[in-house]
Amino acid sequence: MQEYTQTIIIGAGIVGICTALYLQENGCQVTLIDRSPPGEGTSSGNAGIISVGSVHPEAMPGIWKEIPHMVLQPLAPVTLRPAYLPRFLPWLTRFLANSSQTKAEAASVAIHALSTKAMDYLQPLVTKAGADDLLRQEGSLYVYETPTQFARAKVDCAYYDRRGVDYRIVESAELADMEPSLRPGLAGGVLTTKAAHTLSPLGLSCALFGLFQQQGGEFIQAEVNGFLTNVNRVTAVRTDRELSCDQAFITAGSWSHLLARELGSKVLLDTECGYHLQLPDPGIVLHRPLLFVGRAFAATSMQGGLRLAGTVEFAGLKAAPNYARAQVLAQQAATLLPGLSIEGGEAWMGYRPSLPDSVPVISSSPHFENVYFGFGHGHLGLTQAAVTGATLAAMSAGREPPMDVSLYRIDRVL
Ligand SMILES: Cc1cc2nc3c(=O)[nH]c(=O)nc-3n(C[C@H](O)[C@H](O)[C@H](O)COP(=O)(O)OP(=O)(O)OC[C@H]3O[C@@H](n4cnc5c(N)ncnc54)[C@H](O)[C@@H]3O)c2cc1C
Repeated sequence: MQEYTQTIIIGAGIVGICTALYLQENGCQVTLIDRSPPGEGTSSGNAGIISVGSVHPEAMPGIWKEIPHMVLQPLAPVTLRPAYLPRFLPWLTRFLANSSQTKAEAASVAIHALSTKAMDYLQPLVTKAGADDLLRQEGSLYVYETPTQFARAKVDCAYYDRRGVDYRIVESAELADMEPSLRPGLAGGVLTTKAAHTLSPLGLSCALFGLFQQQGGEFIQAEVNGFLTNVNRVTAVRTDRELSCDQAFITAGSWSHLLARELGSKVLLDTECGYHLQLPDPGIVLHRPLLFVGRAFAATSMQGGLRLAGTVEFAGLKAAPNYARAQVLAQQAATLLPGLSIEGGEAWMGYRPSLPDSVPVISSSPHFENVYFGFGHGHLGLTQAAVTGATLAAMSAGREPPMDVSLYRIDRVL
């Protein structure tokens, strides 16, 4: 790799920004392109959890039993809009095929390899950006309301055991000590002790983007609509003009498949829409993020209030948001956190970029020798962004990547 290689990154979400910072460490001259301001896409509205120790794919064994319930309940924690089913079938079929014991185990290994290194690669960037005050490391607490859910969770802790994750079972009586705002009598919890969280996902992206600019990075706000190529190299990225480059990175979140397709890779990427409701004056402060697993949402105390974030809706990239899904979170949270004030909640919707095995693509292109992909982080994009960036930077510089990159190849999801 020559020094000051002209590098273009498409997509300035948390993955693109972290990738840009690690490429700057390679000595590259980096231009980030996004049609929106940096960090304002999906990366702005998440639950803020850096899930160090995350090991479970979405396609866990037995998941198929949930499907009939999903289609019938538009406000259920996980739902599918019936009109989207025909387009969704190929993804769903692959997702279900991935829910065998063997495939779930393989996905768990790949997820863990990234998540376990999340803070090792994120923290140095945040410190350099002067934004340590936006991070806390207090663990995250999975909360189970019924004995059946809690028993099931204990069984699934075997995945933590096999990966060597630090966690702790929290019995019902101790839950109240750890989080006094929780309703008494809940069945129990699991604390992943090394997880961290940010007090502002957008603030974090903005701080990292500020560092990128200080270090000479350029930002262009534009829509990318194609590429110029010469044999097996991309020579320019096309917006309303042609921007020449020595190498290109696609970190365009839920839209990455559209760009990958232009480059000969038809990827099975879909989106899981997620919602949040930000309560400006909640009347309670949580010590750490709480994840209400049966309801598929998390509650995180942040700057600007308490954020209730999560749920999954399969509806594609074009459907209008159903903000009733966000509003419903307020009622649910009020039953779990009795002191909660739900006045004035602000609703938001974003698009998780999801692959059927819950493992991102961190890969070189099979067709173009100077193109790299970093997308499909699903529920864990904030967690895995920095380690993804470091991995892509190592790959493009011909250095040993921080993990076995064969687990994240693009050709497994074509
Ligand atoms: C409700 C919810 C809660 C979540 N909670 C967590 C959590 O607690 N922890 C966690 O780790 N993850 C969480 N996630 C997931 C995480 O937010 C995402 O995985 C992550 O934000 C994806 O980042 P990204 O950079 O890939 O995508 P994005 O943030 O979507 O960025 C992609 C960017 O690419 C741009 N783009 C796309 N196509 C083009 C084009 N053609 N031209 C120009 N620009 C383009 C878009 O404008 C966008 O800005 C959550 C997600 C949701 C929805």
